[in-house]
Amino acid sequence: MPKAKKGATELISLQCTECDRRNYTTKKNRRNMQGKLELKKYCPHDRRHTLHREGKVK
Ligand SMILES: [Zn+2]
Repeated sequence: MPKAKKGATELISLQCTECDRRNYTTKKNRRNMQGKLELKKYCPHDRRHTLHREGKVK
């Protein structure tokens, strides 16, 4: 069984577009995900679901 190649997935953060806080981290598969990831997620700061956009993890 072939091992998954290192670097195929990328660690990203999900940043709230309302308050710019980074509330989540997730992994993105570069092979089957193109462009910027955008998800509706719960923001603890805004206390509601907002649009979260991918950002860099440092
Ligand atoms: Zn927020």
